[in-house]
Amino acid sequence: MALIPMRVLLDHAAENGYGVAAFNVNNMEQIQAIMTAARETDSPVIVQASRGARSYSDDNYLRHLMLAAAELNPNIPIAMHQDHGNSPATCISAIEMGFTSVMMDGSLEEDGKTPASWDYNVKVTREVVQYAHARGVTVEAELGCLGGIEDGQGAGLSEEEAQDHLTDPEEAGQFVAETGCDALAVAIGTSHGAYKFKKKPTGKVLRMDVIREIHKRMPDCHMVMHGSSSVPQELIDIINQYGGEIPETYGVPVEDIQEGIRNGVRKINVDTDNRLAITGAIRKAFEENKAEFDPRYYLKPARAAMAEVCKARMIAFGQAGHAGGVAKKTLEDMIKVYDMQTA
Ligand SMILES: [Zn+2]
Repeated sequence: MALIPMRVLLDHAAENGYGVAAFNVNNMEQIQAIMTAARETDSPVIVQASRGARSYSDDNYLRHLMLAAAELNPNIPIAMHQDHGNSPATCISAIEMGFTSVMMDGSLEEDGKTPASWDYNVKVTREVVQYAHARGVTVEAELGCLGGIEDGQGAGLSEEEAQDHLTDPEEAGQFVAETGCDALAVAIGTSHGAYKFKKKPTGKVLRMDVIREIHKRMPDCHMVMHGSSSVPQELIDIINQYGGEIPETYGVPVEDIQEGIRNGVRKINVDTDNRLAITGAIRKAFEENKAEFDPRYYLKPARAAMAEVCKARMIAFGQAGHAGGVAKKTLEDMIKVYDMQTA
């Protein structure tokens, strides 16, 4: 199947009460892992690339890998999404490169670090919405700031500081109305990367009440949870058992994500868990056969370990079994839908 606009997938998820994991990719093995998991669970998927991934892999390699994934998996709807676009220019270049969805993260200024003003966020998001919707492409926006930094993107807020930058449910309504974005990333106290919480999170630091409140006010708003890896202890244990040194850390429990899904969360960004799975498998392979030097010897188990994580999330988030139900809508179809909205 050709790549589909992400909005089509989010609408189907909302109608059927499920969430969709958005996995980050940088290379062939990661894309293959996601597609294996999607095939085995019959799941529609969101594959996303950060700015860092686009420069690491080069846009052309990424694009052709995605097209190969679509070609080899005609029954799996795939949305290709730019994660954390830092400026309209980044989003426009992604659209030109064939991405079917972009995130304009105007919660930070163009440097990807400084928390931005409301006016700036509205202005750049609207600009991207106008450009993207004219081409049928989906736009995710962000209001509020997450903690941490990933791939050079983030205000570097600590777990405590992130609490001062949560999404305000009242502002969220105004922001969506003013920008016309398709999906809204919300800040609820999570951070990017592996070090989200120092203790198992409670409702005091992982503010699911913010999601419930936004859903109550805007039941049709597709929310996105960033920084939502669960950081499973067993993946950290494998890394540390084979020479790694990952300190004690906690992620977002899958049960909390499921509660989010019951309250309007449709896209859940998962990257760290896959990174942990890959690294653990490679460390284990290195340790078990020190004479081996064929990269396939350690990349194969790494790819398989990531596929297992992807499968578990697809099942937990409810997207499994839904590949066939998603409408076969194209970018051209979505151009008409957006035209009717603005007419
Ligand atoms: Zn993010």
